[in-house]
Amino acid sequence: MTDSATADRIRENWHCVQDDVQQAARAHSRPADAVQIVGVSKYVDTATTAMLIDAGCHCLGESRPQVLWQKAEQLMDQEVAWHLIGHLQRNKVRRLLKCGPCIESVDSQRLLQAIADESLAQGRVTRVLLEVNISGDEAKTGLLPAELPGLLESLPSQGVQLDGLMAMAGWGTAPAEARKQFAETRLLRDRLTDQTGVPLPHLSMGMSGDFREAIAEGATIVRIGSRLFEGVIQQ
Ligand SMILES: *Cc1c(COP(=O)(O)O)cnc(C)c1O
Repeated sequence: MTDSATADRIRENWHCVQDDVQQAARAHSRPADAVQIVGVSKYVDTATTAMLIDAGCHCLGESRPQVLWQKAEQLMDQEVAWHLIGHLQRNKVRRLLKCGPCIESVDSQRLLQAIADESLAQGRVTRVLLEVNISGDEAKTGLLPAELPGLLESLPSQGVQLDGLMAMAGWGTAPAEARKQFAETRLLRDRLTDQTGVPLPHLSMGMSGDFREAIAEGATIVRIGSRLFEGVIQQ
């Protein structure tokens, strides 16, 4: 594929995904702009990531911190809101925070505290989501629902803005079953807010294969990767 054919295909994919997300929102009586799309660029190099930005996607997700900061440095002249969606080790927090990312994958109290401390040191407030292991899948990362109330009772008072929850359906989960897990995530959020008084307005859930189900259950953020690169990468 030539570069310009690749760029055209990515632009077309981006417009299709936007249409589908807006349509799913409308189908559930939600405003068309109720759902933010994070374009997951982890499958492609920096040059191809730049094509997605050119197409109009300015919110990008990466699962590896070092890839996120490399791309952020190489694409510094672009306006991008970066989201980290994969595991973060505490020794990578300092360098990562320099990119001012939203961290969707906070999976422990210690990590949350480290992000808060380093954010304070850097004079910033970092937007974070708590990753919940909703499928109960042992292989999966994320906090167990039972761990959340304790964590919410002892949130760092500065440095982080806790915006909500992130969840993934278990691997190979059929869309109908995924929808149940997304509904459980929303109910968990509602219970937690009732119990602790902490507002958790955002729900990041849904990927290429199950974003419609996630939007039906109240997702405000969907993380879409492979659909954006259809016809561009081997899937
Ligand atoms: C890779 C990834 C995605 C995107 O998945 P696709 O199925 O390619 O859309 C979303 N969320 C997380 C946490 C991921 O690791």
